[in-house]
Amino acid sequence: MNLTEILKRAQNEKWSTGHFNFSESDQVRAVCEAAAELRSVAILGTSEGEAGHIGYLEAVALRDAFRKEFGIPIFLNSDHHKSVDSAKKAVDAGYDSIHIDLSAEPYDQNIAGTKAIVEYAHSKLSEVNVEGELGYLRGESKIQNEKIEVSEADYTDPNKAAEFIAATGINRLAIAVGNIHGISKDEPNLDIDRIIKIRAAVPTEVALVLHAGSGIPDMQIKAAITAGIANVHINTDIRVAYAKALRDELQKSDETTPYKFDSPAREALKEVIKQKLTLFGAVNLF
Ligand SMILES: [Zn+2]
Repeated sequence: MNLTEILKRAQNEKWSTGHFNFSESDQVRAVCEAAAELRSVAILGTSEGEAGHIGYLEAVALRDAFRKEFGIPIFLNSDHHKSVDSAKKAVDAGYDSIHIDLSAEPYDQNIAGTKAIVEYAHSKLSEVNVEGELGYLRGESKIQNEKIEVSEADYTDPNKAAEFIAATGINRLAIAVGNIHGISKDEPNLDIDRIIKIRAAVPTEVALVLHAGSGIPDMQIKAAITAGIANVHINTDIRVAYAKALRDELQKSDETTPYKFDSPAREALKEVIKQKLTLFGAVNLF
């Protein structure tokens, strides 16, 4: 099954796939082991920074190796690639999924750049699933110490979403509905009605994506999935679990063998991923 088919199935059956970021091979193993144990699917993502660290070709090689080892659907996404050039780099390397995020650009430029990537990716391989973004997502993937103001002007407008999809030909749309990157100081309050309206306004074959899933209460995540979200991004929660376990381990021992001192971090990561996949209802799929 390719990613487009899996997203369609998730949307129809009202569960959601999970998207997890990585910059080290150890984190890929944690995601794939968790997904395999739960008979789920793994969507792995690299931001431009993460891809710069591990390498685009190396990320693709890891995906291929873990597919062979686990025999489950594993996909690789270029998360928040902010230029046509960087998104092309991911297409050329063999990513199955491209997220081109030009949401900070003027609307016309967002359309032009996103459309260019859809055409480029589909000319190389028709199965590549391309995500565009509309609306403005604040914050970054860390624990925020200041209150981040979100205004409704940043939110995705349902009619604009339909227009954007028709103009670009994307397969998925990332929306802003009160979600904030990172774990914010105040509890986010998702605009579930808006998700329902966007879902109703856009073609059924286009999947809706909720970024910044960390720090959102479980009940709101569930409501968002019921309203039509088929992919939830988790980054900060896994970064925090990984860093904490690694820090604890390094503090309590003089261990110098990397595969020994970093194993607890991998296990901590795997636990969080299993919790999230269970919350999303993405279990026992096969
Ligand atoms: Zn994101």
